[in-house]
Amino acid sequence: MIGSLLIANRGEIACRVIRTAQRLGIRTVAVYSDADADALHVRMADEAVHIGPSPVRESYLVGEALIAAARNAGAEAIHPGYGFLSENADFAQAVLDAGLVWVGPKPASIRAMGLKDAAKKLMADAGVPVTPGYLGDDQRPERLKAEADAIGYPVLIKAVAGGGGKGMKRVDAAADFDAALASAKREAAAAFGDDRVLIEKYVTRPRHIEVQVFGDQFGDVVHLFERDCSLQRRHQKVLEEAPSPALSAEGRKKIGETVNKAIAAIGYLGVGTIEFLWEDGEFFFIEMNTRLQVEHPVTEMITGVDLVREQVRIAAGLPLSFTQEDIKFQGHAIEVRINAENSETFTPSPGTISDFHAPGGLGVRLDSAIYAGYSIPPYYDSLIGKLIVHGRDREEAIARLKRSLNEVVVGGVDTTIPLFQRLLAEPDILSGDYDIHWLEKWAARQKGDA
Ligand code: ADP
Repeated sequence: MIGSLLIANRGEIACRVIRTAQRLGIRTVAVYSDADADALHVRMADEAVHIGPSPVRESYLVGEALIAAARNAGAEAIHPGYGFLSENADFAQAVLDAGLVWVGPKPASIRAMGLKDAAKKLMADAGVPVTPGYLGDDQRPERLKAEADAIGYPVLIKAVAGGGGKGMKRVDAAADFDAALASAKREAAAAFGDDRVLIEKYVTRPRHIEVQVFGDQFGDVVHLFERDCSLQRRHQKVLEEAPSPALSAEGRKKIGETVNKAIAAIGYLGVGTIEFLWEDGEFFFIEMNTRLQVEHPVTEMITGVDLVREQVRIAAGLPLSFTQEDIKFQGHAIEVRINAENSETFTPSPGTISDFHAPGGLGVRLDSAIYAGYSIPPYYDSLIGKLIVHGRDREEAIARLKRSLNEVVVGGVDTTIPLFQRLLAEPDILSGDYDIHWLEKWAARQKGDA
């Protein structure tokens, strides 16, 4: 097993990884920027190394600084968390080249899945249904336009190197295509330094359903069922639940078997998530995330599996500690993302937390990086915590979520807590009847009412 681990991240995910490492008896090394000197992950770790100024480009994104920190602190392995360098194949390779253990998939898998066109081709070859569309190298605007016409509108233009919803444009009619293409390419060039795009059929009212997977060095693969992340704003997840209220037992079996076959076919190592759009019983692959996801706790709550423990074990060369047959899920779990944001305008609200109280009780988990007196720096994303609840069924989970949202106190900054309190009064949310566009439409209606 690994004896010491550097966590190349900050915030709630750094704290979350440290918790599992501590319970496994692994020595933890945190890293921090100027702005994070007083951060919780720094206080929790056995040791902390300063890596640079506050901006991420001068600290959390500087691969050499992270590797040097690991060397100096005598850490054997690096866990990247999510975001930052977690899906950077060059960094993963540099970690391995430095003789350290990389708690993640093979750099080649990260690279293959990092480009949406390559990933779709790989998955289609492995027998996974993908969204119909154009993945060609011919990027001339007239060719792209002809392909969009052939697919039929509405279509979605997506940056091949895309992520976080950037470089993505929906086109409803042929007349709008050229302008949308120019804008998607501009955005993609600015964000990713790569303006290539692919064209996809726009799925009108899908749910976002993703499957948690594992592969070990012995070729064994296991999936841990699905998460439903259909409640989104600007293609960003807001609330996640498991199991999906939309999937039948038969659909769940089908998607799980398809995914296991694909993971085995690509020889995937470690923890990953395969994301699908699901509509009327059909599912289409959209992308694979080659890292731990923000919403992984809902899977942990229904399966009882510690995903970080499994990640570290696989990285250490150990076999998966369970087989597919060992994995059952129980009850229902829901996660809400607590962001330091205005709950109506979603504008960031950095500042000092004047008061903090974490809710407790059966089936309630709060993964956060805050404490009373903590100042949220303006340099990083606004996620400050996640409230996750588990119940014997969806109804009980919702009741527990409502109760916990009433109990949690985060004073001094605006948060998304009031948003969830309002959402949990909506019949569609209570019945589980929502697709990926539901939240945007609801938000627009709220504005109209005001
Ligand atoms: P990113 O990597 O930028 O997050 P994804 O390909 O994962 O992009 O898509 C993000 C979100 O965009 C999905 O969860 C879904 O809400 C929406 N989306 C993606 N592809 C389609 C499509 N073909 N039709 C409709 N919506 C889509």
